[in-house]
Amino acid sequence: MPAFTDYNIDSLAEFLAATGHRPEHARGLLGTFYGQSGRIDLDAQSIPKSLRAILRDRVAERRSCVLLRNPSRDGTVKLLVGMQSGGAVESVLMPTVARPERAAGCVSSQIGCAMGCDFCASTKNGFERNLEAGEIVEQVLHLGREAAESERRLATIVFMGMGEPMLNLSNVTEAIRRISDRRIPSISRRCITVSTVGIVPGIDTLADSGLNVHLAVSLHAPDDATRAKIIPMNRRWDVASIVEATHRYQRITSRVPVIEYTMLDGLNDSEDQAHLLAKILGGMRAHINLIPYNAIGPGLSGTTYQAPPMERMERFLQILRDARFSCHFRITRGDDVNAACGQLRLSVLGST
Ligand code: SAH
Repeated sequence: MPAFTDYNIDSLAEFLAATGHRPEHARGLLGTFYGQSGRIDLDAQSIPKSLRAILRDRVAERRSCVLLRNPSRDGTVKLLVGMQSGGAVESVLMPTVARPERAAGCVSSQIGCAMGCDFCASTKNGFERNLEAGEIVEQVLHLGREAAESERRLATIVFMGMGEPMLNLSNVTEAIRRISDRRIPSISRRCITVSTVGIVPGIDTLADSGLNVHLAVSLHAPDDATRAKIIPMNRRWDVASIVEATHRYQRITSRVPVIEYTMLDGLNDSEDQAHLLAKILGGMRAHINLIPYNAIGPGLSGTTYQAPPMERMERFLQILRDARFSCHFRITRGDDVNAACGQLRLSVLGST
């Protein structure tokens, strides 16, 4: 049975009309549903009795449930969300530092991941399937309820959970349209970020979609030799083509891109690599996020990585700041609850 998250206002209106009811009810119903983070008491809605009965029979309130809730000491809450049609993904709520009324949510776009990045836990069990748009929206609603519990508002969404959003782009963009629909309680597109390993056609399609969300690019190395060691996809789209696509994205959307850089000891953390990164980004206005590697045990290749010592990461940051980039460390949160990508699912389901 489909759920409310499987509809947008237009498709719900069509459904209502097909059952002989006024399509105008769609907006009110979804407005209530999203306003209450995915809850709706049909008895309290001013709709005909006959419609109430139809909705009860044919549209579920939910099609996923929270299988596991892992709160961290720092306020981060990691959820394992089980989908009715099978499989489970991770969604994480992070309280916004210095904004006590806000929280950010991190959602997954696929069950498992096919990218094979050597330092990432999401890929260890391979790829299972794409999430449907409604299943992505459900994660946002679970996180919205979780935020409300701590008296915060879910204000930001990042597609940095499990999976590669650009390889499930039609469902990701449809989910973004549903959660950012201004006719009902929604999240601003200015507060939504899609993160990619560097799928160039996906970056271009997202740029042309008119959604104007933020783009984050997981670069992790300024040269192809280093990047290919940790990211198999680099053989398909190399550093230069990804940087060009990021420039195009910025030109079309006017959004300042985020360059993500997971720091791995002795691999991508040298002063030369920091200078090279500044050089290849050239005149691009970009925020560079340095992410200290979060240990996941040996990667698919058998290599065990480590985060660099703090002084080396600070030197890397300083070189980029001297080159006039906005550069910050991503604070690693939720360490005690396996909050890095794919870690919770792996610790529950085990590695095969
Ligand atoms: N597939 C997308 C989104 C998911 S990963 C992408 O590649 O961008 C979200 C971010 O977390 C990526 O930048 C990824 O490289 C990073 N990441 C994954 N595992 C990590 C780990 N163990 N430590 C630090 N960062 C990690």
